[in-house]
Amino acid sequence: MTKCLFSSGFEDLAKTLTELNMPAFRANQVRDWIFKKFVFSFDEMSNISESDIKKLKEVYSKILPPVEKYLVDKADQTGKALIKLSDGELIEAVAIPGNNTMTFCLSTQVGCPVKCLFCRTGKQGFTRNLSAEEIVLQVMVLVKKTGKKPTNIVYMGMGEPFFNSEELYRSIDILTDPKGLGLATRRITISTSGHVQGILELINRPGEVNLAVSLHVANDDARDKLVPMNKKFPLDVLKKALTEYCSKTGRRVTMEVVLLKNTNDQYNDLMNLINFCEGLIVHVNLVRFNNFKECEFEAASDKNEKEFKKELKKAGIAVTVRSSHGQNILAACGQLSGKTQKD
Ligand code: SAH
Ligand code: SF4
Repeated sequence: MTKCLFSSGFEDLAKTLTELNMPAFRANQVRDWIFKKFVFSFDEMSNISESDIKKLKEVYSKILPPVEKYLVDKADQTGKALIKLSDGELIEAVAIPGNNTMTFCLSTQVGCPVKCLFCRTGKQGFTRNLSAEEIVLQVMVLVKKTGKKPTNIVYMGMGEPFFNSEELYRSIDILTDPKGLGLATRRITISTSGHVQGILELINRPGEVNLAVSLHVANDDARDKLVPMNKKFPLDVLKKALTEYCSKTGRRVTMEVVLLKNTNDQYNDLMNLINFCEGLIVHVNLVRFNNFKECEFEAASDKNEKEFKKELKKAGIAVTVRSSHGQNILAACGQLSGKTQKD
């Protein structure tokens, strides 16, 4: 049975080369074609002999897995790829063009076990973790589709990255390897729903990977419901970890807050948020809620959003309002589910 190179992994490639009596340097040649020249077909690898290409093709039917669908939002050119993995599972990866930037948003799991109430991925439930290769192949699929290299990577697709730390960091190592894409760690952001062990581990990692925390609300009762990760790591524990993160790394944490009508958009929610940010190096990102069919929430009013922005600024906290990308193709935050239809 033939397989896909990326889904099987590069260790498998090295083993396969030995079995096929090919020199070990072939693996580096193949990697070079893929990561440096963005060539995704063995036939185009001109420094590999025809007979070796034939042998490779007998083992690997493809380099990248099939893309079931690729949708582009006409309004903002955001592209979403629906990728079919070797076991038939579907994952999504999103390319967000900006002014002189190209941000790729990657998934780390099929579905998500955290089950935040306002998130479409959470509603889907959890199937499995992705391997590092399955994370990296999303980048390659998007490079192929957009014809551009990413300037930034955000781990904000499907899944909780810190529930899959080992493969997450292995994927970062591949993406930052000078022999690969050679991305700078400061161009990479991990978004977590508040996995404290993951945050503490990040402090001691080499490099300058950025951290975003999906806080949403700074009251334990409300957060227990909205972001069930809070039951495992309540706010005082989270704050302690973030304080340590800021003091040890000197890096700024992005606090993501999706404002939901009558849920976390009231005056006391604002005060709790300001209170939580005190003493931390933070930047609050007010994210527009993206609706989807089976969700009971509504976005907060523009008035409340403006009020939050004004008061956070007044309290000396940096704040931005994140415009939504790819809403028309369900590619915006929290809309990913491995399905493209609207229901
Ligand atoms: N699991 C990680 C990363 C993926 S979710 C996390 O939760 O941080 C990426 C971002 O999308 C998070 O900030 C999440 O809170 C946000 N999000 C989820 N559902 C959303 C929705 N319906 N509208 C807007 N943002 C949403
Ligand atoms: Fe999982 Fe993040 Fe969605 Fe919560 S918001 S269910 S942590 S993907």
